[in-house]
Amino acid sequence: MKHLRAEFPIFAAHPGLVYLDSAATSQKPQIVIDRMNRYYAEENANVHRGVYELSESATRAFEGSRAVIAAAIHASLEETIFTRGTTEAINLVAHSLGQIVLKPGDEILLTIAEHHSNIVPWQLAADRFGAKVRFIPLNQDRRLDMQEAARMVNSRTKIMAFAHISNVLGIEHPVRELIALAKSVGAATVIDGAQGIAHLPVNVRELDCDFYAFSGHKVFGPTGIGILYGRKSLLDRMPPYMGGGDMIEKVTVNGSTWNILPSKFEAGTPNIAGAVGLGAAFEFLKGLDLGKTLAHDRALGLGLVNELKRHFPKVRLMVEPGPDWIGLVTMSHETIHPHDLAAICDTEQVCIRAGHHCAQPLMELFGLPATARVAPFVYNDENDMDRFVAALHKAEKLFA
Ligand code: PLP
Repeated sequence: MKHLRAEFPIFAAHPGLVYLDSAATSQKPQIVIDRMNRYYAEENANVHRGVYELSESATRAFEGSRAVIAAAIHASLEETIFTRGTTEAINLVAHSLGQIVLKPGDEILLTIAEHHSNIVPWQLAADRFGAKVRFIPLNQDRRLDMQEAARMVNSRTKIMAFAHISNVLGIEHPVRELIALAKSVGAATVIDGAQGIAHLPVNVRELDCDFYAFSGHKVFGPTGIGILYGRKSLLDRMPPYMGGGDMIEKVTVNGSTWNILPSKFEAGTPNIAGAVGLGAAFEFLKGLDLGKTLAHDRALGLGLVNELKRHFPKVRLMVEPGPDWIGLVTMSHETIHPHDLAAICDTEQVCIRAGHHCAQPLMELFGLPATARVAPFVYNDENDMDRFVAALHKAEKLFA
């Protein structure tokens, strides 16, 4: 993927930079940056409001991006809602879907391997509606215990929410099986696609999920923009999440009525430049072969795993790679705290993530306060992995 690296200006701005934190946020290709700059320099106006040409062209750019993204995930335009990101998308669903499906005693089923973004909104909804949040556990091999999942699902289960890919384990959850399980009791399904969207082709029709949420910044796009796909029949019934401009049909002193989809869920001036940038990111994504990029990320991750097993007996991997693994290497070290490891990596211009990865229940299960995570992506190569290994050697010497 060497040819791709040249498309990311951050590497020219920081010669020698090894960026292995793409699960936190991806770097941005020049075409995304250029597209956003062009929007501000040449097309800037508010959308859906003006009757003048500049506003109409901003609206075309904004809606054109929606069309590109909707086509990529096989959703209709009405079902493709711009949000600030995964977090806001899941909060929207928890709030608005909660209002139409949750009552006291109902259950929301999550997995123990969720990001806080896919836990806390459900806890808030559970408190609000008197429902209960339950967590599907992991097996010994740190894959979901699907037998237990089948036992946990029951007539009180109203919502099942789970990540497409865990941001800590780098494992693709068996989403099709989980969706089938939810359907067997008529529960709605919410997929946290924050990691999935960058690594796997996503087809919401084929998945037949009710909601799929993701952030633009994990998939070559800007921060502050993301998508919520929602099934139209549910979105139609759900009350708005936020009130304001653009989401209304009519406002009177006695009350208001709502705009059609997707505007009903897009209150206020949107992140227009972000949306336009995300459209460009999806055009970039279209040019990639996700089968090849996944194979590339897995090969880099596997090379590192083998190296760690051979030469670093004090490193413990959080999961063994399998066919469901995307190449993410999350580890702990017997004597080096993950933050110290990340700080030493930084002295070598190697960026890795250390911490609880916004997945404290999973860390608790590991019995660890934090882990270190190496996340290879399209612009990384073997040399980057070697640089991380060299930094780990340095850390071991320092902490010997
Ligand atoms: N879910 C998963 C699996 C993630 O990895 C992340 C980000 O790290 C999120 C949700 C939250 O995404 P954002 O902070 O962009 O809303």
